[in-house]
Amino acid sequence: CGIVGYVGPREVVPVIIEGLRRLEYRGYDSAGIAVGCAGQPLELRRAPGKLRNLEEVIREHPIFPDAKHGCGGTWGVGHTRWATHGRPTEENAHPHRDCTGRIVVVHNGIVENYLDLKRELQAEGHVFVTETDTEIIAHLIEEEIKSAADSGKTMLLEEGVRRSVARLTGAFAISVISADEPDKIVAARNGPPAVIGLGEGEYFVASDVPGILHHTRDLHFLGDGELAVITRDGVHLTDFEGDQLPLKIQRILWDP
Ligand code: GLU
Repeated sequence: CGIVGYVGPREVVPVIIEGLRRLEYRGYDSAGIAVGCAGQPLELRRAPGKLRNLEEVIREHPIFPDAKHGCGGTWGVGHTRWATHGRPTEENAHPHRDCTGRIVVVHNGIVENYLDLKRELQAEGHVFVTETDTEIIAHLIEEEIKSAADSGKTMLLEEGVRRSVARLTGAFAISVISADEPDKIVAARNGPPAVIGLGEGEYFVASDVPGILHHTRDLHFLGDGELAVITRDGVHLTDFEGDQLPLKIQRILWDP
């Protein structure tokens, strides 16, 4: 339902939680966050119910409490969920992981062919731990990257996402991060809205303008069939075939 992602020098958790709070009007039943710090596994926290439950979980189990310089995390994604497939439990709350736990996905919308894809992935040995349609996206990406690695090639996260979204039917706005590719968010859209915010040395993604407008007014509204690679160096936009597209940055002068 609500998505907020951040890459940049600030403390990640408060940027994401505050962004999600500003999207609260959309309604949700659970919330979660995944944060990265180079060289470490991603840290995930999730909780059913209100955002303050998630904040409580983070207070009890702080994210990267011992890490020095820059961590607290340097990139991350958060989600407030409005369940469509699977009960509103902690387990079903986003972000969702692949088998390795190194790739995580937050998703708005519905993957209509998830049962077919799930069966196919299970036949390949993938084990699923949630009832959601979303979880298959993380496993699809893992499978693409793994198959490339098995034939001696390195596939970047964005290519894994590109190949995976080509297999989805239904509606999605997703943001994906990987422990193996620090300071990068890959966002893709087919249906539900997504907006990218461009700051100075920091970049944002959100499901709606109020999630990030207090940080930057320079926005690119992700179009259907667009995929964005968001890093500290900027935003690289392509279509789902991988052909580069120009960013159409709009300066938003109104307040939501
Ligand atoms: N279909 C996904 C789920 O049930 C995403 C729901 C949403 O848009 O929040 O987990």
